[in-house]
Amino acid sequence: MSFAIDQQKLSSSAHDFIDEPFLNSLLERRAEPSQVREVIAKSMAKQALSLEETAVLLSAESAELVEEIFAAARQLKRDVYGNRIVLFAPLYVGSDCTNDCLYCAFRRSNREQIRRTLTPEDLRTQVEAMLDRGHKRTILVFGEHPRYSPEFIADCVRQVYAVQSGKGNIRRVNVNAAPQDHQGYATIKAAQIGTYQIFQETYHHETYGQVHSPQSRKGNYLWRLDGLARAMEAGCDDVGIGALFGLYDWRFEVLGLVAHALHLQKHYHVGPHTISFPRLRPASGVELTSSYLVGDEPFKRLVAILRLAVPYTGLICTARETAEIRREVMAFGVSQIDAGSRIELGGYTEAGDTQVMEREQFQLGDIRPLDQVMNELLGDGYIPSFCTACYRLGRTGEHFMEFAIPGFIQNMCTPNALSTLLEYLVDYASPETRAAGEKLIERELDKMPESPLKSELVERLRRIRETDARDLYF
Ligand code: SAM
Ligand code: SF4
Repeated sequence: MSFAIDQQKLSSSAHDFIDEPFLNSLLERRAEPSQVREVIAKSMAKQALSLEETAVLLSAESAELVEEIFAAARQLKRDVYGNRIVLFAPLYVGSDCTNDCLYCAFRRSNREQIRRTLTPEDLRTQVEAMLDRGHKRTILVFGEHPRYSPEFIADCVRQVYAVQSGKGNIRRVNVNAAPQDHQGYATIKAAQIGTYQIFQETYHHETYGQVHSPQSRKGNYLWRLDGLARAMEAGCDDVGIGALFGLYDWRFEVLGLVAHALHLQKHYHVGPHTISFPRLRPASGVELTSSYLVGDEPFKRLVAILRLAVPYTGLICTARETAEIRREVMAFGVSQIDAGSRIELGGYTEAGDTQVMEREQFQLGDIRPLDQVMNELLGDGYIPSFCTACYRLGRTGEHFMEFAIPGFIQNMCTPNALSTLLEYLVDYASPETRAAGEKLIERELDKMPESPLKSELVERLRRIRETDARDLYF
């Protein structure tokens, strides 16, 4: 018997919008090189692509066309996001789970996993450790369990915001947790969360049924697919979607993600704020037997195609990936990465140099310290940013289209990125990273035309260097 969900609790737009026969028919079509180039041109004009157009890009196989897709994604990323990369770190709160997802070490039947839920004291210690390394943005991660109720999640969010260490505090808390009902989202939203993130894992119905026990809550495909629509209706207008690549054909999952983004856009007039595309990783008690594991080449293609399909949606590449792959995909599409991440429960203070698989959901590919990642980003010419201004000033959702406001990136994003970078350099960086960062700030200032805004920014940077003034944003 499958897990029953009260249909009354679904959103007003709830229906299964993943039309498999249609998506499969799109994936069977072959496109001429000229069609691929037409779609690339549309995307370069910063227009979101339809499912049909995305499928045209997915059908491109020749080395030449794939290279053109990569080049276009690189260019589009520069045009839309400039050279900023936003940084965050995850904070795992609890590994209890009533679901039994075959790919996850937290699944209820996994006896190897050492279960833990952080106490308020643990939570404070973890946040202090994150702050002392320079973090300003986090995402709280929870298994799905009755003890992780909306009230519990909201309480954790409030506790995290309340921690202060040195000159630092967490300025944006996102959440990755189970889908809620409307009331649950409203409770969590009241704690001032940023993004609510839910990954569909796989959009392919049969595969979904195979990896998620029908006796578990997560076994209900529509409840999950509709999860972020309910979030929107409950006032969380900042949501993140994702698929776990490796469970089913990567091309199908890309179309699923685009279909999901189009669905939210159509019904709520705002698409997802971010898309995540984790690849399956080794995990304790998990055997990776899927025949759909995604190699590095297709992975790069899927990131580039997502970039072109949804030009204004942030793309997140997590530390599941190795440093090398992250560096590559950052160039053509990624706008956010986590860095210095530890995902063992209590990992920011208790884990050593190696990962403890029985204490984490899966193994990470990149556990370099934040400062090392910052140094590499600066060396590659990126502006690492800890900016949280938009959501704190209410610049989210339908009422805010940052890219529709002329000069927004130049006038807001770059100055905010530079001032948050300088806070990091002054308060936390190693001498090498500080020197590299100061040079980058100088170069960026040189590029800016003289204006009242630039004078104000220069003054703010001086205050950050010479005084305790922090958290100054446009
Ligand atoms: N329990 C919540 C849920 O399932 O929505 C929170 C999600 S879980 C803690 C975060 C995400 O990690 C999952 O949505 C899944 O995509 C991903 N994940 C699980 N097992 C994984 C693995 N072995 N490798 C990579 N990612 C994995
Ligand atoms: Fe639980 Fe989430 Fe892991 Fe599934 S993916 S077992 S719901 S923590």
